[in-house]
Amino acid sequence: MFQLAVHFVSPFKAVVLQLRFVGACSILGLFGWSLASFAADAIARAKKMHQIPCTKCRFFTGDYRLKCTVNPHLANTEQAIGCSDYQNKNI
Ligand code: SF4
Repeated sequence: MFQLAVHFVSPFKAVVLQLRFVGACSILGLFGWSLASFAADAIARAKKMHQIPCTKCRFFTGDYRLKCTVNPHLANTEQAIGCSDYQNKNI
């Protein structure tokens, strides 16, 4: 059975080798694309998280039980970006 399969495949050996090469390149390309996509997502996420102003705000306590005395439900979340109650603690 195996001999028969080898007999049928041998004329297409060059094509099969090229298909293997294309397959390997495709897998490597997908892996690289996945890594690049992951890195781009991580950078975008990090930029978004750095826009949260709470750690520089006067009302931020740094205590996990009450993070903010004005908007405790918003503190350290993405919803705090553009918070209208933000006041710089250094002023
Ligand atoms: S007032 Fe707004 S910016 Fe300041 S700590 Fe609270 S949620 Fe964050």
